Amino acid sequence: MAKMTRPLIAGNWKMNGLAGSLSELDAIIAGSSSAPFADLLVCPPATLVAAFAARAKGTGVMIGAQDCHMAPCGPHTGDISAEMLRDAGVSFVIVGHSERRADHHESDEIVRQKALAAHRAGLTAIVCVGETKADRDAGNTLDVVGRQISGSVPDGASAANLVVAYEPVWAIGTGVTPTVRDVEQVHELINLKLSMKLSIGSQPVRILYGGSVKSNNCKDLLDILHVDGALVGGASLNAADFLAIAAAVPK
Ligand code: PEP
Repeated sequence: MAKMTRPLIAGNWKMNGLAGSLSELDAIIAGSSSAPFADLLVCPPATLVAAFAARAKGTGVMIGAQDCHMAPCGPHTGDISAEMLRDAGVSFVIVGHSERRADHHESDEIVRQKALAAHRAGLTAIVCVGETKADRDAGNTLDVVGRQISGSVPDGASAANLVVAYEPVWAIGTGVTPTVRDVEQVHELINLKLSMKLSIGSQPVRILYGGSVKSNNCKDLLDILHVDGALVGGASLNAADFLAIAAAVPK
């Protein structure tokens, strides 16, 4: 189905990649013409952000980061601000990934503050939401995701500085994906919540699906109404796999 907005295929490399991985980025850049209907974004670990941004400059591939601190600078050992990421050449930053929500106890309010920090620095925030297996089994998926959208997405955001990624926690890295109907329902809810939260008449914000997206299951997922692309973990580490997903974006 044709999309109302240009889909985004974003790769989240998580804590993977060394200097030698620049060759994988080169392969993505070289193959990007095989995916004419999608924007391509690679989010390497912080150590590679500046080198990746320099290498991708002037190509069709954008570079993002995986997290930022909410403050612009200050005594926060080990943290990186959105301004620093901007300075390093990135244009996107993922905030509120479920691994950060779990490992670093990030609440919706912290995620919202990080998204605001991204906006302050002129970056697009990719705000992640998604239910756990226990939430889904208890029938609470829509309540949980609805609450995360209300709490994590800053008022006044727009398609120009916000992307939302729906990533069911139980689908991340497991090889298991929700049914098309399940994804459709959650994306419909997110779309509705966003249209009430963001300014009337604004462009639709892109809503990505994430969680075990692979080249062999992406077509069905990318065809779903209100699925405007994918956030890809494991399969984004290999240029051929990542490009195969991006090439499956419908015209
Ligand atoms: C992710 O963690 O953002 C993700 C989608 O991972 P995977 O594709 O490996 O499930």
